[in-house]
Amino acid sequence: MSEIRLGDVVDDYCSRCRLETNHSVVSLVNRQPAKVHCRSCFYEHNYGAAKSQEKRKSTKKAKLFDDVLSSITGTPKEEEKR
Ligand SMILES: [Zn+2]
Repeated sequence: MSEIRLGDVVDDYCSRCRLETNHSVVSLVNRQPAKVHCRSCFYEHNYGAAKSQEKRKSTKKAKLFDDVLSSITGTPKEEEKR
């Protein structure tokens, strides 16, 4: 993998554009982008928003999996318990 330098273009989620856009790296911490700015709207923000988005997605997926699993195993639903 190539090293990231200041000014490099990385993909990240821009909360202003509300989509993943090209970002320029404006500060680095431990060779990782710390701050980036969106090349579409020039909004500067912390890097890693894309990752937290992914995390949220997988949490939702896991919940869905639980729902499917409980429907298969026949775990009684909340209403039926009463
Ligand atoms: Zn933007």
